[in-house]
Amino acid sequence: MNVSGPDPQEFPRDAALRRGGGMSRRLLLGVGGVMLLGGCASTGGKPAAAGPAGATTAPTPDPRSRPTGSASSPGQSPSGGADTSTAPGDSHSNDSAPPDNSPAPGATGQDPPPAAGKPQFYVHEGDKAIALTIDDGPSSKYTPQVLALLAQYKIPATFCMIGQNADKHASLVAEVSAAGHLVANHTWTHPNLAKMTEAQVTAEIERTNDAITRGGAHQPALFRAPGGNWSPTVFSVCSKLGLRPLDWSVDPRDWSRPGADHIVQTVMGHTHTGSIILEHDGGGDRSQTVAALQRFLPQLLEAGYHFVQP
Ligand SMILES: [Zn+2]
Repeated sequence: MNVSGPDPQEFPRDAALRRGGGMSRRLLLGVGGVMLLGGCASTGGKPAAAGPAGATTAPTPDPRSRPTGSASSPGQSPSGGADTSTAPGDSHSNDSAPPDNSPAPGATGQDPPPAAGKPQFYVHEGDKAIALTIDDGPSSKYTPQVLALLAQYKIPATFCMIGQNADKHASLVAEVSAAGHLVANHTWTHPNLAKMTEAQVTAEIERTNDAITRGGAHQPALFRAPGGNWSPTVFSVCSKLGLRPLDWSVDPRDWSRPGADHIVQTVMGHTHTGSIILEHDGGGDRSQTVAALQRFLPQLLEAGYHFVQP
């Protein structure tokens, strides 16, 4: 997480597989909100060393982040190649996320979508409605492969693009958008926004919006914080820029290359009505992700799920 530039490294992220036991979503979100505020206070508002373009931060992996179900080896060096110019994937670094093994709040229509200041963890479009999000691209190698699978299964997805990749692969931005997928803003350099000032956060987001629209997609309506590292500042900037904060609820940590089997099993074992699934088409070798998508997309359809966009 939070690494950018031509030679990213991969770091573990938190609580990828959410566990919540009997806690209600509302309580979890409340706790998460407190934690977010606490985290903000603890950083003292000090900006990270990252600048808006090409800067690199390499935060220390948080030991809380190691899910027992992960077969990954975070911290390893990424593979080389033309598509490694972006950061590694996302997993949460706080405990604000809801469990992914309970019914999706809102699936019954009783819990409205999150208000301002909270990210969206679930879609709320009825029984068996789920969403697929594809992060950290576009990638000249993997995005076309993902697009082909989505076309094959007629699945609409949401691509959370990193601005510098969108700028580099503008034709893919247009291709993704033309295929009916949503394009969301995922910052310019994939930094840890929770450690950045309002001005830095704003620059990361605005520059990315510009690259995405320049590439031919609509102005994004959705924003996803790298690593799920939200802060009051990030929410404030999103509000000012008219962006809805988007999170996720099923994370197989595909970016850590745990094996296609692990990715498939995690997705199939944790997806339920309302789930927002996180996958990656950028940040390194995503061949396992592509292989897993080829397997779990038809399985989800056969299980009666249908895909919507947040
Ligand atoms: Zn990401």
